[in-house]
Amino acid sequence: MREGGIQKLSEIVLKPVGIVLSDYQDAQNMPIGGTPAVIQVYPEYQEALQGIEENSHVWILAWFHKAPRDLLKTSPKKVNPNLPEYGVFALRAYGRPNPVAMCLAQLDKVENGRLYLQGLDAIGGTPVIDIKPYYENDIVFSPDTPYIMGKNREIRQDLMFRHARVHHREECRDLHLAVRMAAIAEEYLGKVMSPELRVTVLGSLCLGDCIQGITRARLSNPPRFSFNLEPNIYQTIWVREEKTLNITLKPAYAEKEINTLSDQEVFHIELL
Ligand SMILES: [Zn+2]
Repeated sequence: MREGGIQKLSEIVLKPVGIVLSDYQDAQNMPIGGTPAVIQVYPEYQEALQGIEENSHVWILAWFHKAPRDLLKTSPKKVNPNLPEYGVFALRAYGRPNPVAMCLAQLDKVENGRLYLQGLDAIGGTPVIDIKPYYENDIVFSPDTPYIMGKNREIRQDLMFRHARVHHREECRDLHLAVRMAAIAEEYLGKVMSPELRVTVLGSLCLGDCIQGITRARLSNPPRFSFNLEPNIYQTIWVREEKTLNITLKPAYAEKEINTLSDQEVFHIELL
């Protein structure tokens, strides 16, 4: 690659195109998956929004104006304080030399130069530097990523919930069941997105779809996923190396609210 004669720019000037309006004013309290928020696009840029309502999701690039800019290494403390350090270019860390925030948000509506969003992780007052549509081309169904395991069940389940929700596009009852089953499987067998972990689903189409969204397991290359449509069963079978884990919903709980009950109360869990 040719390097000689290329001029290194010492400064790049960005002009904010809008601002984030949100009840969240403190980055420390920002939930990991972001919050509902509004972007007010400034009048001189509103013409650039034409047609944006045809997209369900948009990339928001913002400038984290309060973030430290001298940070080169850190650990994902919010998710798990016991994890090792990474370079900030290997994480989505808040502090970095140029605190450009990149967030994929769901676009609910556009009205009077305002974008109404869900899942934005920027606080109120954050300058917005760009808005771009999210395309099918952006989707990589099962990328290789580091295993950043959440410090507790709540955080792990929350991440799985978001993966299932984005994939399945409705928050049905079987989505919650899939999240719960995958969280249990992770505790027994480790990372559920691992190429070494195979899963079989017996049950509804929604359960199968949500388990696929959480595990990113494909039917082949490598074959990690199989599915049998069974009207009255909710079962997932997880296989990793020599271990097989069966998780089956007890029939008595098929139509009941299970969130406040323990794993053992609701499921038959069998490790072979
Ligand atoms: Zn569903």
